Amino acid sequence: MSILVVAEHVRGELRPVTLELISAARELGGPVAVAVLARDPSGFTDAVNVDGVDEILAVPIDQEEFENDVYQQVVERLIEERSPRAILLGFTVNAMAYGPALAAKLGLGFASDVFAVRDEAGALVAERSYYGAKVNGEVEFPGHDQVVLLLRATAWPPAEGSGAATVTEVAVPADGSRARHQGWVEVQAADVDITTADFLLSVGRGIGEKENLEQFEELAKTIGATLSVSRPIVDAGWMPSARQVGQSGKTVKPKVYLALGISGAVQHLAGMKTSGTIIAVNTDPEAAIFNVAHYGAVADLFEVAEELEKLY
Ligand SMILES: Cc1cc2nc3c(=O)[nH]c(=O)nc-3n(C[C@H](O)[C@H](O)[C@H](O)COP(=O)(O)OP(=O)(O)OC[C@H]3O[C@@H](n4cnc5c(N)ncnc54)[C@H](O)[C@@H]3O)c2cc1C
Repeated sequence: MSILVVAEHVRGELRPVTLELISAARELGGPVAVAVLARDPSGFTDAVNVDGVDEILAVPIDQEEFENDVYQQVVERLIEERSPRAILLGFTVNAMAYGPALAAKLGLGFASDVFAVRDEAGALVAERSYYGAKVNGEVEFPGHDQVVLLLRATAWPPAEGSGAATVTEVAVPADGSRARHQGWVEVQAADVDITTADFLLSVGRGIGEKENLEQFEELAKTIGATLSVSRPIVDAGWMPSARQVGQSGKTVKPKVYLALGISGAVQHLAGMKTSGTIIAVNTDPEAAIFNVAHYGAVADLFEVAEELEKLY
């Protein structure tokens, strides 16, 4: 049985999570089909034609941007026609708007925020977190041959390599949506996108005072990093939420994550533990951040900052 991935795109750009879904699909085995719903699907077929994709289902729809009713109707029809074993969507605002409804309507198995999935003697098993990421659990789907899974962004590497997928144009009549996309509102506050940074200098409550923040903004510039923070820094109003790493902030995966004065609460780790190299500085040798750090220093962060300033 095949795996159906639903591509996600915004303002003419394929969202990176789509390629991550394809990696997850490849892991599961079986033919992989990627559905592209767009006014002109051909604009995305090259981008999703990567190694491991067998078929691209190009579904022309009336609207340029995502509308949940339309996606639900189209994906429902694709499931009925193709009977995929797993339908993989991103754990994104878009997919959350129709994935659960789709599973409920068709009586399929369902799990969201999935970060690992495997085939166990023909049955799918998904892993996700519970209780604010304090516990990881496995989800089985007894009695369901088909499952809808919403996969966490950055949990899989993006699929690469050129593919040789066949492109099938599929006409699916959709009734239109009760919610219609009107336009985009630019958000002023987000001066930076920490999710795309290669090097994050992340500071936490260990910096003590608001007045100390400027020093780390300067340090970030000096060492070529982007400044990110833990939640208490945002809660105190010292930094905008666009800079917050963690469960209720952004999930990041930089090449280097340098954490100064961050204890490593589960909610923080949920947003950064898959970073390439994690370096932690904390005065407390028992700090949980050291459990995920590749390099750690039990040291005063201000002294380390001073040494870094000297180095650069
Ligand atoms: C539903 C929910 C969602 C949440 N979402 C998030 C989230 O998205 N992101 C997030 O970050 N948190 C989140 N939290 C909060 C989280 O539980 C922690 O409270 C928070 O991460 C702690 O931030 P911190 O490590 O900066 O502060 P603390 O836990 O207070 O740690 C400060 C650390 O600094 C060290 N330190 C102090 N002085 C120095 C010094 N001079 N040099 C070196 N080290 C020093 C201390 O030893 C300590 O380990 C959430 C909580 C809940 C309940």
